[in-house]
Amino acid sequence: MSAPSSTASSDEATAQAEAVAGGEPAETTFSLSLTQDQKDIRDWVHGFAADVVRPAAHEWDEKEQTPWPIIQEAAKIGLYGFEGMAQFFADPSGLGLPIVNEELFWGDAGIGMSIMGTALAVAAIFGQGNGEQIGEWIPRCFGTVDDVKVAAFCASEPNAGSDVSGVRTWAKFDEASGEWILNGQKAWATNGGISDVHVVIASVDRELGSKGHAAFVVPMSEAKGISQGAKVSKHGLRASHTADVYLDDCRVPANYVLGGKDKLDERIARVREGKKSKSQAAMQTFESSRPTVGSQALGIARAAYEYSLEYAKEREQFGRKIIDNQAIAFTLARMKLEIDAARLLVWRASWMGRNQVPFENAEGSMSKLKAGEVAVWVTERAIQILGGNGYTREFPVERWHRDAKIYDIFEGTAEIQQMVISRAISGIPGLFGSSAS
Ligand SMILES: Cc1cc2nc3c(=O)[nH]c(=O)nc-3n(C[C@H](O)[C@H](O)[C@H](O)COP(=O)(O)OP(=O)(O)OC[C@H]3O[C@@H](n4cnc5c(N)ncnc54)[C@H](O)[C@@H]3O)c2cc1C
Repeated sequence: MSAPSSTASSDEATAQAEAVAGGEPAETTFSLSLTQDQKDIRDWVHGFAADVVRPAAHEWDEKEQTPWPIIQEAAKIGLYGFEGMAQFFADPSGLGLPIVNEELFWGDAGIGMSIMGTALAVAAIFGQGNGEQIGEWIPRCFGTVDDVKVAAFCASEPNAGSDVSGVRTWAKFDEASGEWILNGQKAWATNGGISDVHVVIASVDRELGSKGHAAFVVPMSEAKGISQGAKVSKHGLRASHTADVYLDDCRVPANYVLGGKDKLDERIARVREGKKSKSQAAMQTFESSRPTVGSQALGIARAAYEYSLEYAKEREQFGRKIIDNQAIAFTLARMKLEIDAARLLVWRASWMGRNQVPFENAEGSMSKLKAGEVAVWVTERAIQILGGNGYTREFPVERWHRDAKIYDIFEGTAEIQQMVISRAISGIPGLFGSSAS
């Protein structure tokens, strides 16, 4: 099994367009059909999810440990690594990563997050780093096939969850040594402390709230003063490592701030003068990653729907299959409907993000909110359809339900997504008073 190569061809879409237009090439085409490249990638990841990930899911959930051997398997076939990620990101429709995520998380969300958790740090480096930083740090996030690494994105703190403007970790530039000195405590970091590359959001000017934030690369292998705090024991996603990270007089060179120090100095000066600033370090990363996170939730929901559909077609009570009860059949119909509706929102936002169409109505938040809620609802209904079996660890649906719940919480809770949407549709940025977003 190895990565299908990309042979980007628009023949299919063109043929469809011509057929619709009665032989005349249409000016614009609209199609929700996947290209052959996208189908190949989907089927390739699905094979890995079915053959490698799903069979290992229960074991790693019980162990509550990072499944390094599986990450390495993913690296061997090119699913985990710089080139693979670049190929998924490069899809001009924006659907590359959502398609990969849906299949991988269909296999298992805990293992999926161990493989894809690195992507958040990568997105931050890609979105905020300069060319040199992208070339240096993104490959280091993944390591090599023989020495795989993961990466962490550390924004949240004990007192700064939804309200990222409350970040207290601070970075001070030491003119004498030409280094940044970081101090603070990060909470809930996926891969925190087990990564080499940590992207840390810190304040360089607390008075400016989130506008005074910057993103720093802190490599565990080089920087002294960074250490892992408590590892969190979780309700779901238990194969994925989550921990506090401490920064204690942690020193990194001047050019380890993403975008470069000169650019940061210019931006902070602009903000202090009351001028508009384009970038708020944590928010920029979350905005771009929301549809991608939504696609992970879709994978869990689809796993639970497919499993409970098959179960309902097999299980007999009162002398007939349980699907032969309207209550069960209609539930399954709604599961399918909700999953498909969520996928359309995820694909729309992914396409918009990739093609730089502004999220004027917070379409990224809409996609993540809907997909998260659908995953929680579908997995809960799946337990109901399996009855007592659904409630046991002998069957996977209870794990899928535990895993799904996080999609209402991380990368912006359901309430925060609604806040973001409300502000976008009303055009009132200060709606509800606080600066959280
Ligand atoms: C498994 C896991 C992995 C994570 N990974 C990462 C990671 O890699 N990097 C990282 O930086 N963070 C990570 N997080 C942190 C996550 O992003 C936060 O938990 C999340 O943003 C919510 O913050 P909080 O937990 O402090 O909740 P709080 O902000 O305290 O919210 C508590 C409740 O109050 C509600 N609430 C808060 N403010 C408002 C408001 N204004 N209006 C209405 N309701 C409101 C919330 O919606 C929520 O229901 C992770 C968390 C978990 C559990």
